[in-house]
Amino acid sequence: MKKVVFFTDLRKLHAALEHFDIQDFAGKKVPVKLHMGEDKNKYFPRPGFVKHVVDEIKNVSADPYLFDTTVAYTGLRHSKTGYLKLAKIHGFTKKKVGSSVEIDDSGKPVKVENKEYIVADHLYYASHIFALSHVKGHVATGMGGAIKNFGMGGVTKETKQTMHHGSRPLYKKDACTHCGVCAEVCPFNAIKVNEENWEQNMRKCFGCGVCVDQCKTGGLTYKDADFNFVLACAAKACVQDKKVIYLNDVNRISKSCDCDPFAGPIICPDIGYLVGDDPVAIDKASLDLINNVKKDVFEKENHVSPLKQIKYGEEIGLGSSSYQLVEL
Ligand code: SF4
Ligand code: SF4
Repeated sequence: MKKVVFFTDLRKLHAALEHFDIQDFAGKKVPVKLHMGEDKNKYFPRPGFVKHVVDEIKNVSADPYLFDTTVAYTGLRHSKTGYLKLAKIHGFTKKKVGSSVEIDDSGKPVKVENKEYIVADHLYYASHIFALSHVKGHVATGMGGAIKNFGMGGVTKETKQTMHHGSRPLYKKDACTHCGVCAEVCPFNAIKVNEENWEQNMRKCFGCGVCVDQCKTGGLTYKDADFNFVLACAAKACVQDKKVIYLNDVNRISKSCDCDPFAGPIICPDIGYLVGDDPVAIDKASLDLINNVKKDVFEKENHVSPLKQIKYGEEIGLGSSSYQLVEL
């Protein structure tokens, strides 16, 4: 059973990190993997909070730097220079946070479950990683936390695109009852259904896989694989055989993720912070604490069970969903 430490007062971060041998980071250059927020997003981790984390890592004589990867869609975060510009706009400067910012646009292949994922160079070469994950909702995974921070945020934009494309629906006319559920749940209005026809607009399709997940007749199957499965595999490609400490910021819990400019509304009151050394355990513990306050809120809002990524993560050996919660 994995230990997960929970606290609400950030001054207890130091004590929480001591549970996971933070001293082992001494002398290491440490990427602090986080999402620095899409343009106009309001809920990404706050620079003041990130500075607190950076200071704790520096306290053990490690050399932290903030780290993320470029994205597949258009916008500032599509390129390294654009992302660096946006990070600065969002307050992630050396003056405010106490560390530099690095963005990767290239990586190295790592095979998991017979598929190759291109892991960002800075993660690939790191022996020690600090994961700072904001927990919130997500259209394709129900919830985004530590698993998603690496499964999507730790790989190159080409791999991100391949993962999304593989989760697009394949239509089987004979099995379709024209119930219209897929059209109702599609967050991007990419499907139109009437009594005779089923149509998909590929240009609108984001490859979230929600329509396939919700079709109960076998009318839709994944083009390649369930997005939540490849997400867990990609996360494993990033973190396997490395020393990683995970910090989940379970506050400002929005319906959608930090890559969404319009991620609101807030769907659950603030919970607090969790620290652990297992991405599956810490996400399960975060989800359980949220469900205690707002039962099944992510599934109700986003039509995908957040347990899928946790279940797949456990199946492929990314981590364990059994945990013991230690409250500080
Ligand atoms: S959910 Fe499945 S059965 Fe219903 S319309 Fe869509 S493809 Fe057809
Ligand atoms: S994969 Fe997602 S975006 Fe594409 S049609 Fe299905 S629900 Fe819509």
